[in-house]
Amino acid sequence: MKRIPHKIFLTEEQIPDSWYNLRADMKNKPAPMLNPATMKPVELTDITPVFCEELAMQELDDETRRINIPGGIIDVYRLYRPSPLVRAYNLEKKLDTPAEIYFKYEGNNTSGSHKLNSALAQAYYAKKQGLSALTTETGAGQWGTALSEACAYFGLELNVYMVKVSYEQKPYRKAVMQTFGANVIASPSNTTQIGQKILAEDPGNGGSLGCAISEAVEKAVTSGNCRYVLGSVLNQVLLHQSIVGLEAKAAFEAIDEYPDIIIGCAGGGSNLGGLVAPFMRDKLTGAANPRVIAVEPASCPSMTRGKYAYDFCDTGKITPLSKMYTLGCEFKPSANHAGGLRYHGMAPILSQLYADGYMEAVAYEQTSVFEAAVMFAKCETILPAPESAHAVRGAVVEALKCRESGEKKTILFGLTGTGYFDMSAYSSYLEGKMDDVIPTDGDLAAALEKLPKVD
Ligand SMILES: *Cc1c(COP(=O)(O)O)cnc(C)c1O
Repeated sequence: MKRIPHKIFLTEEQIPDSWYNLRADMKNKPAPMLNPATMKPVELTDITPVFCEELAMQELDDETRRINIPGGIIDVYRLYRPSPLVRAYNLEKKLDTPAEIYFKYEGNNTSGSHKLNSALAQAYYAKKQGLSALTTETGAGQWGTALSEACAYFGLELNVYMVKVSYEQKPYRKAVMQTFGANVIASPSNTTQIGQKILAEDPGNGGSLGCAISEAVEKAVTSGNCRYVLGSVLNQVLLHQSIVGLEAKAAFEAIDEYPDIIIGCAGGGSNLGGLVAPFMRDKLTGAANPRVIAVEPASCPSMTRGKYAYDFCDTGKITPLSKMYTLGCEFKPSANHAGGLRYHGMAPILSQLYADGYMEAVAYEQTSVFEAAVMFAKCETILPAPESAHAVRGAVVEALKCRESGEKKTILFGLTGTGYFDMSAYSSYLEGKMDDVIPTDGDLAAALEKLPKVD
């Protein structure tokens, strides 16, 4: 019998030279973003004051299947890509399952997550356009870290609006961003009008991703030669993250395998959208039919309990409207430990695929997620980020089903990053202090009632 190595590495020459735009193969395209002032689909000129031109074009391009990755981006990808596809032999043994479990590991760069894949692309295009600065928001800190690295590399100034609770809870994340030269501001802040308004109403406000987005956008459009960039949700971000799936597919081809089940954690949907992209193409074209499972936190269940509707992408209601699975932009998720999954909406591309039945979604409570994380760390010696641990939990659940049924499924999951900045979460779990806060139907209804009226 052939023995599959523990790690399946591609060579640097095998780094894909183009991204794959899943929208080109979707029969039902994701619904267009709407300009909140006119309620008409946004056009290029509506969004170029906010986004870099090339990125704005990628955002609106539903047709071009392959988009070339500029050499200047590939040169930096070479520093940490291709990322390994790993066979989790020890986890399989621990679970006593006939399933074959693989994970695509995106934690092998300083930012510690897949977010660097898009950060580098976005910083590159900003530099190419001759901009001098970028703004963004960060919740847990991974996106801010990735973008700080990318801006340092390409020589851009960066203002990061960091959700205040994270700013206070994760001083080391802040220090990493500062090391790369970023200016980190706790949000809500008094550097913007929207921040001032929120603070006036609620001085103790601990912030949210939606609020930080509002501040970063306002700062970008009111500063010269500056644009806003976002690390998830957007079509362009899923496009950049397709590199993860393209590499994973090539690695599976190298060992003559193909996954039956593909699992990813879902915050705004970028890692999952990227990981599944080429496999979803097979589904859409009828070439193969793997199951695709999104795993979200029970505390912020946008797909499993949200509504497919137009909503603002931010709390301050200044962004365009996107049609997506959403809990309502005013929904305040409880302070769970997977900061990167605490977003009220879901990428429009994944939302459309989910609505059309191409994907499944499940939600798990954080204590069960950390149980899986600790087991995984002991077996595979990688300490997963709390976000990534949701996918680990999803893989464990499917592998245990295989143990019951005796089926030998091939499972692929996305291990999006490492959790070294999340040790207080691990401590809380290990000390038995972690609780599971699940919103009631009433909590959800209250936020959903306030969805903007469209039509
Ligand atoms: C941000 C983040 C996520 C969630 O974001 P998506 O856009 O849904 O991928 C997951 N894992 C890690 C490690 C992250 O940093």
